[in-house]
Amino acid sequence: MKLLEYEAKKVFSTYKIPIPASTLITSVGEAADACKKIGGSVVLKAQVDVGGRGKAGGILMATADDAETVANDLFTRKIKDLTVKEVLVEERLSIQKEYFVSIAIDRSSRSPVILFAEAGGVEIEATAGERPDAVRSARVSPLFDEVPGFILRYLTRGCEKEIIPVISALYRAFREKDALLAEINPLVITPSGVIAADAKLIIDDNALARQGITENRDLTEREAEAEAHGFSYVELNGSIGVIGNGAGLTMATLDLIAHHKGAAANFLDVGGGAGSERVMYAVRLVASVPDVKVIIVNLLGGITRCDEVARGIIAAGVSQQVIVRLAGTNEAEGRALLEGAGYRMLDTMEAAVAAAVLEASS
Ligand code: GDP
Ligand code: MN
Repeated sequence: MKLLEYEAKKVFSTYKIPIPASTLITSVGEAADACKKIGGSVVLKAQVDVGGRGKAGGILMATADDAETVANDLFTRKIKDLTVKEVLVEERLSIQKEYFVSIAIDRSSRSPVILFAEAGGVEIEATAGERPDAVRSARVSPLFDEVPGFILRYLTRGCEKEIIPVISALYRAFREKDALLAEINPLVITPSGVIAADAKLIIDDNALARQGITENRDLTEREAEAEAHGFSYVELNGSIGVIGNGAGLTMATLDLIAHHKGAAANFLDVGGGAGSERVMYAVRLVASVPDVKVIIVNLLGGITRCDEVARGIIAAGVSQQVIVRLAGTNEAEGRALLEGAGYRMLDTMEAAVAAAVLEASS
C-alpha cells in the first residue's frame, strides 16, 4: 500500500530524518492560517498518488498574500484525473543541491538495494542516462540491521557528510516498516542543513497486519470484497474477465490474452478445490465490472472438480458470454453439464483465449 507524501514524511521524521515545517489542510479556508503559521513563503503540495506530480501541476508556490487564491486553484484542479482532497502546506526551501535516494528490493539478489544519485529532482531516469557516473547503487545483505559504513561512504563519496545518517535512517525505516520502497527525491541541501523535500513509502501488502494497517486503501471495493472471501483478484483496464485456478495458470491466461492483442478487465484466481458456491461467487464478481464483455474460465481440475465448477458457472447465470476450458477431474461430467446448458466449451486454452479476444473485439 502506498502512503501519501505527508504520511511518509511523518514516518520518516520518527526516524529523525529532517522534514520541512508543514501543515496538512483539507479546505481552502485553512490555507491562509497555515501559511502564517509557517511564516511567509510556502509550497502547496497536492496529496495525490501520482508520479511526476510537480510536472502535472500538483505543486504550487504561494505567499501569505495569495495563499487562499492558490489553494483554491489547487483544490479545484485534477491531477492526472485525481481530485485534490488534501494539500500539504510546506515551508519553501532554499535549495542549494538536490540528491536522490531510494531503497527497494532487488528480487534477483533477494536483498535490499540502495540507489543514490548526485542529481536528484524530478527525472531520475534522465539523470541515469545523461550522467551514469552520478548514479550509484549497492545491495545490502538482508542479514544486516544497518547499512555498513563502507557502503554509505561508497554511495555518498564526495557529497556532504550529513547525508549519511539520512540514508542510515531511511534503511531502518525501510526494514522496520516492511517497505517495498522507501524514497526521498529530492533530498535537498539548504543553508540550514539536509531536508527530505519529498517522501515515498510503499508498504508490502503482505505485512499490513503486522504494521497495524487494517484497510488497504489501494484496493477497489471489489478487490477488497474478493480478498475478504479469500480470492486473489485484481482489476485492470480491458474488457475480458478472467477466472483461473492457481497463479501460474491465471498468469499464463493473461499472457496469452496479451499475445492475442486482447486486454483483460480483471482476473480472479479461485485457488484449489473451489466448490460450486465459490465458483458462482467468482463468476458473478468478475461479471459485475461494467467493462467486462466476455468471461473466460480456464480451470484445471485436480482437487477442483470440473462438475462442481460447471454447476457454479451455470448457477451464476451472468449476462455476458462465458467461454470455458476445463480439464482434469470429472471433466466429462462438467462438460456434459455446461454443454447441456448451452455454454461454449473449448478444448485448449489457446482456442478459448482466441475466442474470448474475438468476442471482446466484436
Ligand atoms: P514530485 O513532483 O511529486 O516528485 O514532488 P516534489 O516534492 O519532489 O517536488 C518537485 C520539485 O519541486 C522538486 O524536485 C524541487 O526541485 C522543486 N521545488 C522547488 N522548491 C521547492 C520547495 O520549497 N519544496 C519542495 N518540496 N520542492 C521544491
Ligand atoms: Mn519528488
